[in-house]
Amino acid sequence: MIGSTENTHRVWTRNWAVALIAGGVALLLALMVLLFPALERVYLSQLGKREASTLTLAVEGLNGSLRRFEALPGLIAERPDLAQLLRDPSDTLLIDRVNDALHQTAEEVGLSDIFLIDRNGLTHAASNHWKDLSFVGQNFAYRPYFTLALSGDQGRFFALGTTSGERGYFFAEAVRDGTEIVGVLAVKFTVDAFEDAWRDGTNDILVQDEAGVIFMASRPDWHFRSLEPLSPEARAAIEDTKKYPMDQLVPLQTSQEVFDDRFRKVEITDNSGGTERFLVQSQMIPEAGWKVSLLTPSEQAWTRAVGTVALSALLLLLVGLIATVVIQRRIQLQERIRAALSMQEELEHRVTQRTAELKDANALIMQEVEERRAAETLLRQTQTELIQAGKLAALGQMAAALSHEFNQPLAAVKSFARNAGAYLDRGEPDKVRQNVGMIDDMVDRLAAISTHLRNFARRPGEKTEPVLLNRALDSALVILEPKMRASGCRVNRDEIDGDIWVLGGQVRLQQVFVNLLSNAVDAMNDVPDPVVDLSLDMDGGGVHVRVRDRGTGMTDAEIAQLFDPFFTTKEPGKGMGLGLSISYNIVRDFGGTLEGRNHPEGGAVFSVTLKLAEAPSLAAAE
Ligand code: ADP
Repeated sequence: MIGSTENTHRVWTRNWAVALIAGGVALLLALMVLLFPALERVYLSQLGKREASTLTLAVEGLNGSLRRFEALPGLIAERPDLAQLLRDPSDTLLIDRVNDALHQTAEEVGLSDIFLIDRNGLTHAASNHWKDLSFVGQNFAYRPYFTLALSGDQGRFFALGTTSGERGYFFAEAVRDGTEIVGVLAVKFTVDAFEDAWRDGTNDILVQDEAGVIFMASRPDWHFRSLEPLSPEARAAIEDTKKYPMDQLVPLQTSQEVFDDRFRKVEITDNSGGTERFLVQSQMIPEAGWKVSLLTPSEQAWTRAVGTVALSALLLLLVGLIATVVIQRRIQLQERIRAALSMQEELEHRVTQRTAELKDANALIMQEVEERRAAETLLRQTQTELIQAGKLAALGQMAAALSHEFNQPLAAVKSFARNAGAYLDRGEPDKVRQNVGMIDDMVDRLAAISTHLRNFARRPGEKTEPVLLNRALDSALVILEPKMRASGCRVNRDEIDGDIWVLGGQVRLQQVFVNLLSNAVDAMNDVPDPVVDLSLDMDGGGVHVRVRDRGTGMTDAEIAQLFDPFFTTKEPGKGMGLGLSISYNIVRDFGGTLEGRNHPEGGAVFSVTLKLAEAPSLAAAE
């Protein structure tokens, strides 16, 4: 239950964080979309400011030309030939001279045309007199520059030449004869060169007159168009002065938006329906009443604004993405740490639990060990007591035979002593010495028997040490000699070269051999020529001592119980059934083994295997 609540909490936290980031990013994106027009205007302003110099240059260029040509009509009008010609227009020679002079002047100063008009508007001489479309003979009385000049003012006018069909700017001044105005001198300069220069740049430039008609433009198709529809009065005035071709006075399809005191956005749709967007800035040339406008394609500002928004959006998304990833990572890390902590807690809990269980089990084992140890101690004690009892019983059994054994030598000693006395009386010292020597032998033998008996009766030490196998066998045979002799048993014993040291206890080992030999003798009670084979060999496992008899052997049931305490087949009073059991335990204490089986050729064979030991140092051996 707790786990599932935690999970829900985690998922909730994660979703919440992601939603917050997504919401923030969306909000910022929306803000950017809202701010887009403002951003676009900023870029448009920057663009306009950058291009403002182009407009200034164009205005300065136009102004320069106007100023340059402005003074010319006045200067030329002062030539006396002109007034004279106007006084006498029939003087063909003078006309030719004036024509040539005007042509030459036009060439020199870069004017398109210079022409001389009389008071009625009729042209008498012109720099283009030699051309087919010469002004000579044309009447310009309808032109405002003519009427203005005739009244004494400076006439200036922009118009499409009615004769030449070329757009041009006209300046006119009165030609005076004395103080009397006798005619007008007009000059015209064309504007094509300006337009050619304007076409080189990325911007478009157009010039409008007071009425708003575009009379100069870097694009020829804008000529005589207007950005806004013309008023009827303006149209009428144009028609009167034949300023522009009326059929071309069609407004452009535009839409305008002013966003700054300097700049405005203008969309121009051409005849084919294609729309172009411009940033427009204008400057006036007051003397001429012109408005010069610079049109800069505004796409780049729009593109920059879109680019900025897109880049910012991308950056925002990236930041959002990174934030999401970082938060996800952090949450994952926290989850992992939490999981690790809970796993650790679980582990610690399990360890504590397992430790408690182990402690309980340990206590149980300790208790069992204690019980086993107590049982073992009891068993050992019982065994020790049994060994002792067995020894005492054996001692009891042997006591009768031993008393016989002791009595015999004692009787012999007595008779040797008596004989020695008799030989002494008879003066036979050699015989005396012989008898005394025999007495000595007998006493030695009695002492040996006595020593073995004392050893037998003593409780054996528990520890094992290197002991001489030869000596143990010898002692056993000495102890059993009376029994063997009584039963007429022979011992067929392997010769042993040198001392063989084994791990054990001298008395206990001797006791084992006494038991085995004694049993062998017992087993051959009814055998005519009883023989015990005592053989010995060594291998990697240790020393093997085999005691083999020629008796009746053992049944399988007997073999199975041989080493059980109190198992005996002997009649009561003859056996206690402890010999083999005790011997088995003794040999096991020595780290050896005791086995009993039937010999293939009849009789039983008992094998004692003992561990070989290093000979102890001399002092210890003694
Ligand atoms: P005990 O000699 O007092 O009976 P042991 O433990 O020495 O006790 O022997 C147990 C029994 O094992 C004997 O009663 C006998 O039946 C059998 N046994 C031991 N040695 C021999 C042997 N060499 N041949 C046949 N049976 C044997």
